[in-house]
Amino acid sequence: MSRTASALALALVLVAALASGVAAAEPTFGKATVSATFLDGIKLEQRVSLPSGVHRVEAYVREGSDAHTFLADVANPGTGDHLLTYTFETPAGSIYPNTHVQLGFRVTFDDGHVVDGPPETVLYEDDRFAWATLQGDLVRVHWYQGDEAFGRRALAIGEKAVKDASDLLGVTETEPIDYFIYADTKPFYDVLGPALRENVGGIALPEIRTLFANIPPSAESESWVGIVIPHELTHLVFGTATNNPFHDPPHWLNEGLAVYLSEGYSTSARRNVERTARAGEIMPLRALVGQFPTTADRFGLAYDESVSAIDYLIRTHGQEALVTLIRSYAGGVSDDAAFSAALGVDVAGFEAGWLADLGISEPVPFGPRPAPPGPLPPDWAAAPAQTANPGASGLPAPTFRATTPGAGDVSGPVTIAVLALLAVLLAVGLLVVARRLSQGEPLLAPAVPTVPTAVDDDDADRDAAAAGGEDDRPQ
Ligand SMILES: [Zn+2]
Repeated sequence: MSRTASALALALVLVAALASGVAAAEPTFGKATVSATFLDGIKLEQRVSLPSGVHRVEAYVREGSDAHTFLADVANPGTGDHLLTYTFETPAGSIYPNTHVQLGFRVTFDDGHVVDGPPETVLYEDDRFAWATLQGDLVRVHWYQGDEAFGRRALAIGEKAVKDASDLLGVTETEPIDYFIYADTKPFYDVLGPALRENVGGIALPEIRTLFANIPPSAESESWVGIVIPHELTHLVFGTATNNPFHDPPHWLNEGLAVYLSEGYSTSARRNVERTARAGEIMPLRALVGQFPTTADRFGLAYDESVSAIDYLIRTHGQEALVTLIRSYAGGVSDDAAFSAALGVDVAGFEAGWLADLGISEPVPFGPRPAPPGPLPPDWAAAPAQTANPGASGLPAPTFRATTPGAGDVSGPVTIAVLALLAVLLAVGLLVVARRLSQGEPLLAPAVPTVPTAVDDDDADRDAAAAGGEDDRPQ
């Protein structure tokens, strides 16, 4: 081996050693601890020993089965041993109770490589109440007010609802479903958060297999229990049957099925739909694909129309076609593809059939309409009177004229007339002077008094015009 070659080999060994030395300098983490406070936050703490070369420190958060990772900057404390802390804020509606949340810290180095510390997982719970729990084959009912009989009844209804919906849609539910019953409205709305409609009585969250409902355990609510529990559980089974990453089924199909299986096409719903149809105010189904309207009457009508459409679908195409339609959404197909394959008509064709069944033609679109005139700022009210000089009304008039001296002087007819008069007087004066000079008379005596009188008058007019502001503005 030559001298150069051995020197090169030595250098390579040194570089490799250096590189492995850098790679070995990774952060070391202690065990993370998390503590959650409902409606406040989830606090993460973890000891870490940071080597040099740390570019950035972050906290990472993953909720439920969601594949998204939320990252939040944490102050980089530099090389050495530290206790890292981070609080993930959880105001009302930001994260539902009964969600598993995974938290940890992430270290990014100057060279771009990333090291995630070992995470800790916490079950985010509504711990404001002492929940009683009863577990059936699939459903776990949680409630905090009312006796055990109330819980048993809710459980029996829930188990039956899951069985009925699963049998109908041909899906098999195997994972437990948690059902939380709130006796009070306020804490129930704390769970929903400010983004949800205030006329919501229950909510189904297939992604965490959890349902929340507001059911006071009173005698009057007995029938409500028998409706809201099957309703929400039908949503959950519907979610299992149609789950796909591409395209959600129309909202009216989901709600229509939930109403149909929990209370059927009731007389009151039928009356509401038929009365609205006669009045020419039916909302087309394509208006009920996403969120339902906000106002209470239209919100209720949306449910009534949804179950009306389901009733029409089953009467016309049969229950099997309904099941085929719903199941086909699991393939991520479009609405037209799903309807055409299951019913032999596309969405528009189905809607036309439903409207014809109601005895009406397609509703006339209500909008878009021009926006109503909005309120004017108070200082805009006088604007029309000032159109000749927009923007000048806010300025003191004398200042306006003073900033442009001369502009008004030469263009005013009065001024022009005065100047013309001056020119004539000057010419006459010169003529007189020339004559007197030619006649040997003295220059000053008679000509001077006549001219200044005219000029003084003109000056007075001009000042008055300036003081009077806009009135004397030309044009
Ligand atoms: Zn619903």
